Amino acid sequence: MDAAVQATSGDAAGSRESAARLGYVDDPFARHFVRRAQRRAPLINRGTHSRFSGIQRILAQFCERAPGGQVVVLGAGLDTSYFLARRRGRVPRRFFEIDFAEVTARKAAAVRRAPELQALLPADTQVAAGGAELHSDSYCLVAGDLRRFEEDLAPRLQALGLDPALPTLFVSECVLVYLEPAHSNAVLDWITRAVPNAGVVTYEQIRPDDRFGRAMVDNLRARGLELHGLHAFPTLDSAAERFRARGWHAAQALDLADYHGRLDPAERARLGAIELMDEWEEFTLLAQHYAFTFAHTADAAPFSGMGWF
Ligand code: SAM
Repeated sequence: MDAAVQATSGDAAGSRESAARLGYVDDPFARHFVRRAQRRAPLINRGTHSRFSGIQRILAQFCERAPGGQVVVLGAGLDTSYFLARRRGRVPRRFFEIDFAEVTARKAAAVRRAPELQALLPADTQVAAGGAELHSDSYCLVAGDLRRFEEDLAPRLQALGLDPALPTLFVSECVLVYLEPAHSNAVLDWITRAVPNAGVVTYEQIRPDDRFGRAMVDNLRARGLELHGLHAFPTLDSAAERFRARGWHAAQALDLADYHGRLDPAERARLGAIELMDEWEEFTLLAQHYAFTFAHTADAAPFSGMGWF
């Protein structure tokens, strides 16, 4: 079960590499995290572009507004966000990435193999936990199980420098939805209690109950994957309500179809010139089953005013 969910990090990395190689997204680092590059279908590349740009926009806004803040990427998989922030020249005070040890070990090995990535690691980086973790004053790759967040991960993050008093952005890109609601709620409840100025950006599946949604769930189940959170937060509204119910501010939620439709026309024209895409009906259906949410605990800087549109 855990092995199946860990393997999704490779799928996400493969899609990112395909979209980067074709020019949909500007990510020169994605290639270091794939073993066998595979070109994805045009509609997947389109979806990856929206997913990538939606998350990176929030990360870039936060890093710009809160250079003294922190980022915590939950279930970071093989994502490249830290390296992209380094390339932009806007890194927050501390950046943490969390995933299962099996995944962080793979990530740490890929980073150590690629001189381009090694060069972007802080000079004080040390390899820890038998190769599964990287520690430094400003960047840490941490192995752990999000289902044991409060008792295991939260104290270890704090021992590694996480300061709950600083503005902190938590990122969940297709992660919390894999946890039982009791476990993902425990993560959010810890943040609500411990971090007075926190923001969360998520990108996850929604709408399991229509025909497409049922097929999506069946398809994942056939691969041994269960989206436990999907049934607890099935709609766009419920995804945002989850934060409002905890007293958080300005929970914005928008599905990927809406996000893609609101992209700058020049950007859409650029994407259209990359490859022919004629599966619009299928794209819209797919994109209606993924959504972003953004919410924050305090109605103050740096989060107030952040968002997509
Ligand atoms: N966020 C990354 C991205 O977008 O490329 C990876 C997404 S992948 C679909 C889901 C990730 O969540 C996997 O790397 C998986 O190992 C991680 N994950 C799921 N459940 C977890 C748990 N209980 N503890 C730690 N990591 C977990």
